[in-house]
Amino acid sequence: MESVIQEKGSLSIHTENIFPIIKKFLYSDHEIFLRELVSNAVDASQKIKKLASYGEFDGELGELKVQVKLDKDAKTITVSDNGVGMTADEIKKYINQIAFSGATEFVEKYKDKGENGNIIGNFGLGFYSAYMVAKNVEIITKSFREGSEAVRWVCDGSTEFELSGTEKQSRGTDIILHIAEDSEEFLDEFRLKGILEKYGKFLPISIEFEEKII
Ligand code: ADP
Ligand code: MG
Repeated sequence: MESVIQEKGSLSIHTENIFPIIKKFLYSDHEIFLRELVSNAVDASQKIKKLASYGEFDGELGELKVQVKLDKDAKTITVSDNGVGMTADEIKKYINQIAFSGATEFVEKYKDKGENGNIIGNFGLGFYSAYMVAKNVEIITKSFREGSEAVRWVCDGSTEFELSGTEKQSRGTDIILHIAEDSEEFLDEFRLKGILEKYGKFLPISIEFEEKII
């Protein structure tokens, strides 16, 4: 099926590359990428629940859960949810713009203050913390809105992204991290489980961990 969504463009940011910025300023605490992605997945799940309770979503809620999958061969970590998902317009608004304007502000404000892993979330940089460990990130998402086309966004940490239509049957979002060479310590089930236990304890949605073994 030919997709109608086909777009390439530049992210609005005044810095060449967010990659070194994120690595440099958050150096001490790389593992928080997983907390940020899981918390986004939980937020998306809570949102669909809310919409259902307001009567704005009358489809099947299903069992809401967040899955973290490790594939050592592909060197990927995938965080999946069956929450609200995003349309192409929502990706443009919430991923391409907001976070990057926050990034510039973040750097200006904190460049002399050294490391602090916790400030990242306060600047809408939550999603972009993925680039602390990933050289490339894909978002495959399908909005709960009726008739929505699934979309794929991909960005290698430069200011260029690609957005295109894709196939995805079910509602929700997969965030696929292609782990960088210097972060391969995270391609380890015990390490990931440890981080999930640390941050995933009191979450309202259950978090499942799965390793691909073939
Ligand atoms: P914050 O969570 O503080 O808003 P993030 O950078 O973590 O900032 O995420 C930016 C936005 O991207 C979110 O507010 C949300 O709109 C969207 N988003 C990120 N992850 C998901 C997801 N798994 N499902 C749906 N929307 C998401
Ligand atoms: Mg977030």
